[in-house]
Amino acid sequence: MKTYQILIAGGGAAGLSVAASLKRRDASLTIAIIEPSETHVYQPGQTLVGRGVMSLEQLKRPTHTFIPPGVDWIKAAVTAFKPDANEIDLDNGTTLAYEHLVVSLGLKLNLEGIEGLADTLGQNGVTSNYVTELSAYTWDQVQKLKTGRALFTQPPMPIKCAGAPQKAMYLSCDYWLKENRLSGVDVEFHNAGAVMFGVADFVPVLESYIKKYGVKTCFSSTLIRVDGPAKKAWFKQGDGSVEETTFDLLHVTPPQCAPDVVASSALANEAGWVDVDQKTLQHTRYTNVFSLGDVCSAPNAKTAAAVRKQVPIVADNLLAARKQQAMPGVYDGYGACPLTVEVGKVVLAEFGYGGSLKPSFPLDPRVPRSLYWWMKTTGFPWVYWNLMMRGREWLVKTSP
Ligand SMILES: Cc1cc2nc3c(=O)[nH]c(=O)nc-3n(C[C@H](O)[C@H](O)[C@H](O)COP(=O)(O)OP(=O)(O)OC[C@H]3O[C@@H](n4cnc5c(N)ncnc54)[C@H](O)[C@@H]3O)c2cc1C
Repeated sequence: MKTYQILIAGGGAAGLSVAASLKRRDASLTIAIIEPSETHVYQPGQTLVGRGVMSLEQLKRPTHTFIPPGVDWIKAAVTAFKPDANEIDLDNGTTLAYEHLVVSLGLKLNLEGIEGLADTLGQNGVTSNYVTELSAYTWDQVQKLKTGRALFTQPPMPIKCAGAPQKAMYLSCDYWLKENRLSGVDVEFHNAGAVMFGVADFVPVLESYIKKYGVKTCFSSTLIRVDGPAKKAWFKQGDGSVEETTFDLLHVTPPQCAPDVVASSALANEAGWVDVDQKTLQHTRYTNVFSLGDVCSAPNAKTAAAVRKQVPIVADNLLAARKQQAMPGVYDGYGACPLTVEVGKVVLAEFGYGGSLKPSFPLDPRVPRSLYWWMKTTGFPWVYWNLMMRGREWLVKTSP
């Protein structure tokens, strides 16, 4: 059985970036990334594909171009974590051993959590920017809708990029408004939660756009069933009752959870996520295991922006742990959500644990700005591809 000094389970945004950061710190490390997919997708761009601002092809790059020199890419999926033996099993029948493990498997879109959804998604006007290939179908359906009922849904937290369900709605409304169709489209936002956004400072500006677009907001309203051909959807209400309604376009944000292979392992907390200390990102019981990105239990906003801050913290702390030294990195919960309230304007919500505001720019973060639209469409993708994914940690500190 082969043993690596560091195994990285999951080569998405977090796994590929942390591999690059580790190799830059110590080129002699033996590292392998376990990742089945040949294509890496820049998921934050899916919102823009849903509005025709970017193409799907612009979001995709070959995974192999992000495997740092000297790192092994094992093109397989993890089927079992065995942290008591420091081993993992793969779907190609092999078992690998490690000295240190990084778990970065992302999260699972639980399509089965909504009855009928998997059968109709991508047809009958039922779409989701959360499913990479369907973000283009969103744009197709938004353009085709002349009049009728457009429903946008948000499931219970946690989900990745908690603002993305409403971003899809604002950008669609922006299009219908510019096409002089909005008065003929009934737009509803069905939110399983009780507020428009988890950080109160950003709610008033979002409410101003809700008003501008004439959106009806339905709180404590959770999508539980869809019948695509009949164009019907059912929502469970806070009091337990179920309401049936019709739609012409239904943008669904599926419920989200930890991947089964994590949730069923000894690494998981009660909710299924990899159980880490929220400051060090080290596992709470297995000290040679670290986790970052969507799969870890830290209560930050699950975003690529959070990954960018977590990567150097995990790299520093893991290498310190290997030398039995004190871990220097402290994660403050930073995450960011660029709320695309209209084409050309973004409210850049940046915040840490407890909803504390963490703006990167000396500007009032509650104001929609064209500068942030440029960041969302041009600046952030450049930072992602050229800095974060290459282990270049500009403007990232590992301790407060
Ligand atoms: C519609 C949408 C909009 C978003 N908008 C933003 C935004 O504006 N700003 C922002 O910062 N973030 C945004 N995000 C969130 C951001 O994309 C994620 O938080 C980020 O990609 C998380 O990185 P990750 O590495 O944890 O997960 P991923 O990048 O999803 O990577 C997980 C990897 O694990 C692999 N994997 C899964 N199972 C296994 C297995 N069993 N074995 C081996 N490998 C496995 C997968 O193939 C994948 O490559 C958005 C996401 C979506 C979907």
